[in-house]
Formats: sequence, structure tokens, C-alpha cells
Amino acid sequence: MNPRLFLAGHTGMVGSALRRYAAECGSWDIITAPRSVLDLCDSAATTAFLQANKPEVVIIAAARVGGIHANNSLPANFLFENIQIASNLIHASFLSGVKRVLFLGSSCIYPKFAPQPMSEDALLSGSLEPTNEAYALAKIAGLKLCAAYRRQHGCLFHSAMPTNLYGPGDNYHPEYSHVIPGMLRRFHEAKVQHSPEVSIWGTGTPRREFLHVDDLAKGCFHLLGIENPPDWVNVGWGEDLSISELASQVAETVGYHGRIVNDLGKPDGTPCKLLDTSLMKSLGWSPSIRLPEGLRSAYGDFLARDLEKTLRC
Ligand code: GDP
Repeated sequence: MNPRLFLAGHTGMVGSALRRYAAECGSWDIITAPRSVLDLCDSAATTAFLQANKPEVVIIAAARVGGIHANNSLPANFLFENIQIASNLIHASFLSGVKRVLFLGSSCIYPKFAPQPMSEDALLSGSLEPTNEAYALAKIAGLKLCAAYRRQHGCLFHSAMPTNLYGPGDNYHPEYSHVIPGMLRRFHEAKVQHSPEVSIWGTGTPRREFLHVDDLAKGCFHLLGIENPPDWVNVGWGEDLSISELASQVAETVGYHGRIVNDLGKPDGTPCKLLDTSLMKSLGWSPSIRLPEGLRSAYGDFLARDLEKTLRC
């Protein structure tokens, strides 16, 4: 019989990728719960659900997520909801005898000025980037909760810290999205409207690293196969590029040939955010989807959703 896996957050970009990969593997009995059935911010309901469904493994991919603008303007939502989701699921897993929990965090847990590339031991060595401090604090709390339950109770609760992610199922909201889906949408709209120029947020000088969500899904299941994993492990691509360089690649992917200008009224966020991925490599895993190929698949997803929306209207 396949092990029972509860995938919390199965409808999000990360959860959907995990679900696709788990289904492809065919070696998991996947349990999911839509928000209408289980509110992960409700502690009693979360415990009752896990006790009734008895998963052996829980992956926590549920979170309130968003780009720099969403993080910066909704700090109470990002901190409160993400702490609740993490603590409810981790404690409920403990109470329900779940054998293994994999908690998903983010590279924004590391200090704003951490030495690059950022290794796991940079955690809590300095102040956080203010634009995503609320999200980062909630993710640090989740990671530390897993480590604390592991140390105190001996349960195998551990975490993965992915870099900036993108791919099918992303959020293409014009304001609240991350940079890749935000740019795909704006560059596409500029192309169809024949706009002579399109703007990108900030100076274009910050550097970011991007990982395709299908790579992350494979990395997560690789970690679940390790007998004694580290408390938390970085999962990244291993190279970064500037936001201006990214904009050129997005323009090429979309086929937009106009000018790219900077909207300096928007924040830059942290200057660079590149993960040291040597620990994950030493555990036997590396990603494989290069950015140009990944951008093409993300743009294909955007077009499919856009078409669906048009057909629905
Ligand atoms: P961050 O890594 O937490 O800062 O998250 P984002 O993905 O939201 O932003 C990454 C960088 O891209 C920041 O420097 C943004 O200012 C920049 N950026 C440029 N254009 C856009 C855009 O259209 N949307 C977003 N979200 N960021 C953009």
C-alpha cells in the first residue's frame, strides 16, 4: 500500500506542481482538502482533519504568498495567516502521529545583507529585508517549529527553503504577483496593444535567482527520500541575474520589441538573493530546467489562462 500524503495547499502553484509530480511517481496515496472543507487557520479543524485522515507524511505548501507589493502592503495578513497555517499544521501533525513533515519556506528568511550566495547558516545572522519581513518571520517560525518538534519529540519534521519560484499556475495579478508573472503579463499586454514602451519596477539592478516549480517539486520528493535530512535545506538554481537582464529575457520570450523603462516609484527590495545550494547538491539533487525553457513554459501557461478567461467572458 502506498504511503498516505496530505498535501496542504494543493491548489497553489507549488502545491499543484507537487501533486503533478506525486501523481506521476504513482507511489503516493494523495490526500487534499479544498478551503471550503478545511480552513488551515482553524487549529481544531486542522487537528480533526489529520486525525480523521491519518496521513503518514504532510507537505506544507499552503501559505499566503505574493510579490514585493503584496508583502509590503499586507504585512498583518502575511504574518498572522502564515504563522497560523504553519503552527496549526505542525502541531496537528504531531498530535496525529504523522511520521514526516516537510515545511516549505522561502529564501527571504535570510538577512537582507547576508553574504552571497546565502548558506543555511546565514539564518538569523542579521536584519531582514523590510518589504518581506512579515512573510519571512512566519517562515522562520515554521522552520524553527519543525526543528523544535524534532529535537524535543524526535519526530522527523524538516524544511526546504526554495528560492524565487515561477511556472505553471502562477498568480498573474497586475499588482500582487511576483516579478516573472507580473512581467509576462505586462510585456504580453504591451505587445498586443502595440505599446512603444513597457515599464519594470525599480532600478532593474537587484539580482534574483529563479527556480522552476517543477524542479522544486522533484527536489522536495528527493528530500523526503533522505533518511536523516538536515533541519532545513536551500533549494535553488545556483545562479542569479539582474532584473533588467530578466526583463530582456521576458521580452524575448513574449516577442515584445519596444523600449523597457524603469518605474522608480516602485521598491527594489533586497539587492541580491542567491542561495548557496551546495548542501542540496551534496544530498544528491540538482535542478534541470533552464530559465529560457522555463519562461517559455510559464508564458504558455499565461496564454492558456488568458484564453480561458476570454472564452468565459
Ligand atoms: P522579491 O524577490 O521578494 O523582491 O519579489 P518580487 O518577485 O516581487 O520582485 C523581485 C524584483 O523584481 C524587485 O526588485 C522588484 O522591484 C522587481 N520587479 C520589476 N518589475 C516587477 C513586476 O512587474 N512585478 C514585481 N512583483 N516585481 C517587479
